[in-house]
Amino acid sequence: MHFLQRIGNAGLSAILVLAVTVVVYALWARSRAKANRKAEEKLQATIKSGKTDAYALYPKIDPDKCSGCGICTRVCPEGDILQMVNGLPALVSPTKCVGHTLCYRSCPVDAITMVFGSEKTGKQVPDYNENYETNVRGLYIAGELGGMGLIANAIKQGVYAATHAIANLDKSAPADVDVLVVGAGPAGIAASLKCIELKANFRCIEQNTFGGTVYNFPRQKLVMSHPAALPLIGKMSFPKNRIVKEDLLKYWKDVCLKVGLKVEERVKFVNAKINGKVFEVETSAGIVRARKVILAVGVGGTPRKLGLPNEDTEKVTFKLSDPEQYQGCKIVVVGAGDSAVEAAQRVAEQKLGNTVHLLVRGDALSRCKEDNKTKIEQMEKAGLVHIFYSTGVKEIHPDRVVLDKKGERVEIANDYIILFMGTIPPFDFLKSMGIGIRTLYGEPLSKTD
Ligand SMILES: Cc1cc2nc3c(=O)[nH]c(=O)nc-3n(C[C@H](O)[C@H](O)[C@H](O)COP(=O)(O)OP(=O)(O)OC[C@H]3O[C@@H](n4cnc5c(N)ncnc54)[C@H](O)[C@@H]3O)c2cc1C
Repeated sequence: MHFLQRIGNAGLSAILVLAVTVVVYALWARSRAKANRKAEEKLQATIKSGKTDAYALYPKIDPDKCSGCGICTRVCPEGDILQMVNGLPALVSPTKCVGHTLCYRSCPVDAITMVFGSEKTGKQVPDYNENYETNVRGLYIAGELGGMGLIANAIKQGVYAATHAIANLDKSAPADVDVLVVGAGPAGIAASLKCIELKANFRCIEQNTFGGTVYNFPRQKLVMSHPAALPLIGKMSFPKNRIVKEDLLKYWKDVCLKVGLKVEERVKFVNAKINGKVFEVETSAGIVRARKVILAVGVGGTPRKLGLPNEDTEKVTFKLSDPEQYQGCKIVVVGAGDSAVEAAQRVAEQKLGNTVHLLVRGDALSRCKEDNKTKIEQMEKAGLVHIFYSTGVKEIHPDRVVLDKKGERVEIANDYIILFMGTIPPFDFLKSMGIGIRTLYGEPLSKTD
């Protein structure tokens, strides 16, 4: 009898299903092998470049606990920072990790710890515990000042700090307030909302303007922010986790109006000294006696400078609030992170056109997001921006700058210099209040959720 007749229709179907399964599996295995090869190449390139240290909080994977499910490699909004290499997640782009912690949260087997600093290069952070209370009891740190960036993290920390501070109030000594919240960025706003929710007597002071670092973002900047729970309000979330700067500030302002949160603007915190059971806090508006103090002052205070003559002239600036003020100008932007790259893009896009040079100290744009890198490289191809790698500013003159470009002296005409070289953490200020500074070498900081 013919073979096909012998196995019948059912047998034929089974053979077909098996054949399709084998083909699908073979294709899947081939694409996995290709992805693995690419990820391994990326990892090797990172190791070769020496750029193996993350700047912020980053994931450390315990290979003994990891199940190899790969979920952590798919959740990061920054892209392929973690990728599967030989069955385990590997940090292939450490310099792009900004500490979202979504990989850590998504791990079903707790194989990820969020850590700071590498074994060779430690990272300095203020000394505080899992409640965000520093070694000076009653004095808390919340938000970016503690070493962790991002709006959602700042909100969570503000809430934790206020919750702990209020739960541990000692009302036996007289004071003006239970809690003094310093700074009205996301951490300070969240801490203040928690104070209102828990009916604590508090004040929130802000040396500049409500909104913190967000207030200083360039006009119409698209802010990425993951959902975060605001006390009294609930989840703060936006479509696709994006919102324009002005709308975010308006959202927070509406929240303040709704719950009656009044921020005292233009009031600067100077220092805090413990006197018995209360802190005597010196501010630009006088002394405030507070039972607890939450420092939510961020890290934007002291921008890194070049240390050159003429740096304090008007042509040099450390922020870009209004790109439209630059029209038909010759501009140098210094830095390799997102702030610098976005600033270069914004000034290069202006109607009347600007001549824009982006100066990068290293030989690649390894610190900014992939989409920012792609965009600026496209702009360079279109002749809108000139990117100079391995280049720094040597001299600043009213109408020109002298550059050191790979050891060569180059002079270009210049009207403005925009410096985005990061900020100097205010550790001396913290030390003056007795707060310790510790160095972490690939260790966890505190709780990260
Ligand atoms: C260019 C740029 C783009 C960014 N984009 C994003 C993004 O898209 N998504 C995201 O999640 N994060 C982003 N971030 C990071 C985010 O802005 C910060 O992590 C966040 O604002 C930190 O909040 P914070 O409350 O800790 O501090 P801040 O927002 O810095 O607020 C601190 C406040 O304290 C005040 N202050 C300081 N010293 C004193 C004092 N002595 N007395 C009184 N007040 C004081 C300051 O004036 C400031 O208003 C970006 C940062 C930058 C620089």
